[in-house]
Amino acid sequence: MKIFRIVLLLCLFVYVAFYTKLQRLESMDWADSLEVSIYPINAGGNESTDHYIQTLTTDKFGGIETFFNKQWGDYHEVDFQPVTLTLKPPVLSQPPSPPTDGHVINIMLWSLRLRLWSYQNSVGDDKSTVTIFVRYFPVNNHEKLAHSLGLQKGLIGVVNGYASDDYQEQNHVVIAHELLHTVGATDKYDLTSGQPLYPTGFAVPSARYSQTKAEIMAGKIPINEKESMMPSSLRQCVIGHQTATEIGWLDGDV
Ligand SMILES: [Zn+2]
Repeated sequence: MKIFRIVLLLCLFVYVAFYTKLQRLESMDWADSLEVSIYPINAGGNESTDHYIQTLTTDKFGGIETFFNKQWGDYHEVDFQPVTLTLKPPVLSQPPSPPTDGHVINIMLWSLRLRLWSYQNSVGDDKSTVTIFVRYFPVNNHEKLAHSLGLQKGLIGVVNGYASDDYQEQNHVVIAHELLHTVGATDKYDLTSGQPLYPTGFAVPSARYSQTKAEIMAGKIPINEKESMMPSSLRQCVIGHQTATEIGWLDGDV
């Protein structure tokens, strides 16, 4: 049966290679605005989440565009809109869950399945469009949401968020973070402690523990060596130098 699995894997790989966005964007020159499609998903499966999704409009995601416009302005003198978001119709199926065992072959298979699933559920999107699926959960249970993710290969993000206007700003922080992963930004927090890494994960490294904002890829505002807090909105976030370099906004070695 092992040979069967390998053949199946190869077939799947060839299919994905030819028919989906296999490669990351070759060079992100930021000459044109990056197109981003947002696909909402009712992950909780209940009616109130459905109702919330019906209230969504492209305008409701405008805060994310504003964030990128402002950050661009901090690095460049010419006005430019780096990111254009469009709300797409809801997707009715759920993305494949990531493996929990951490085996390389399972992660590879899952990544292929995710890209295939994304391809099937984002019909009509251009090859260079970043596809973000936002899985909305009901707020009432207050269970911790699973990790969101952004894949550079395939330009796919899967964001877990809460189906409530009260959480819209927080959802936007996560969407911006995962969106930046798809164009090459790396995490800037300690994977064990969750603390922002110094200096790359600090909005203003020279201010050390007197930060008022979070570096978006660190995701938190450091308070002291052991504590940090979540930014309340994208207005409390910045794209730091290292992230700006990784995504091609600044020249220099990554
Ligand atoms: Zn991340």
